[in-house]
Amino acid sequence: MDLPLPVDAPASAHCGTCTRCIDACPTAAIIAPYRLDARRCISYLTIEHEGAIPPEMRPLMGNRIYGCDDCQLVCTWNKFARRTDEPDFRARNNLDTATLPTLFAWEEDEFLRRTEGSPIRRSGHERWLRNIAVALGNAAPAADARRALESRRGHPSELMREHVHWALRRHDDAPHPRRIGTHRDQARTPPPAQASRASASRPGPQEDTAVPDGRHGIPLRRREQ
Ligand code: SF4
Ligand code: SF4
Repeated sequence: MDLPLPVDAPASAHCGTCTRCIDACPTAAIIAPYRLDARRCISYLTIEHEGAIPPEMRPLMGNRIYGCDDCQLVCTWNKFARRTDEPDFRARNNLDTATLPTLFAWEEDEFLRRTEGSPIRRSGHERWLRNIAVALGNAAPAADARRALESRRGHPSELMREHVHWALRRHDDAPHPRRIGTHRDQARTPPPAQASRASASRPGPQEDTAVPDGRHGIPLRRREQ
């Protein structure tokens, strides 16, 4: 397609001394003002990235199974944003209440049916399961999380099996209660399975419920109250 689109003006700087997005990013993907290392971004890793998710990134992803947007949520400017009334952007198919084991149990036909008309469908069933396997591995050890992972142990895809085995190892090795790492903890305490969260104020990824963002229909992890 070769359309003569109008050229808009370059964005002007409005950040001042704010660093909220840099501080909030769970993976330190924003490496400097206006600079993002997409290879560390959870939105890239869960949606666009094919193949295995780098093991060192997995503990940092918490239970974000499709996108992230933490940087958007904390941005001062976005407090002026208003939720749209456009129905296409509303949560569908109970994605705002479903648990990770429930979503992990979807076979491909159910995945395709329930994500019809949603951008989630584009990433495909295998990546969907891959992402949930990582989230289940990051969840606090619980019988339903382990059962869900065990049910996919023999998945035909080697990619899936590797992620499931990784997640089960996390549960095997987890101290009680599981505490999830951040990039800052990783720098201090190298073994990711034992890394703890940097502060109680950071949104935590320990819950096993996927929560769609109402603006994008994208599951995010539930915020701590
Ligand atoms: S979407 Fe999430 S991981 Fe990506 S830059 Fe923003 S806060 Fe970081
Ligand atoms: S949170 Fe918003 S205002 Fe603050 S640095 Fe990031 S983009 Fe700029």
